[in-house]
Amino acid sequence: REEMNIIQGALELRTKTVEVVMTKVEDCFMLPSDATLDFNTMSSIMESGYTRIPVYEKERSNIVDILYVKDLAFVDPDDCTPLSSITRFYSHPLHFVFSDTKLDAVLEEFKKGRSHLAIVQIVNSEGEGDPFYEVMGLVTLEDVIEEIIKSEILDE
Ligand code: ADP
Repeated sequence: REEMNIIQGALELRTKTVEVVMTKVEDCFMLPSDATLDFNTMSSIMESGYTRIPVYEKERSNIVDILYVKDLAFVDPDDCTPLSSITRFYSHPLHFVFSDTKLDAVLEEFKKGRSHLAIVQIVNSEGEGDPFYEVMGLVTLEDVIEEIIKSEILDE
């Protein structure tokens, strides 16, 4: 039974899109690019429990960087370091995928190993102006694996 489910889940990777498994942007824990790494900010990062935190500029739909919690290893909250100096120093690449990308394709990307998190975006062509990219959420390797095994992976 279990094996059948997994096979079924694996087959569905070809038809399911990232949109159905992503974490929606409004549910994402993110930081503004002008944040200061003081005690409060660092506590909220630790409390969130996430290992990768998107950094946005002005609007939450404008993601410009990503902070890894391990980047904070040498940061002293008493120094009130600007977040931007840490993100500039580590400068992790950001990966984007379109919301209609199939799960098998993102899995291939994740397998290449550069990053196990991608920002999900759409092209918004509604309204008067030029079409623009809009962030819908984020997707990680864990979201894809959960689709294969069809059950929640409880966090450590
Ligand atoms: P982590 O290592 O931070 O626990 P995982 O890759 O294991 O992240 O993903 C666990 C779940 O948390 C996934 O559903 C993923 O979409 C979600 N997730 C990852 N990072 C964030 C974040 N910064 N804010 C909200 N949800 C997140």
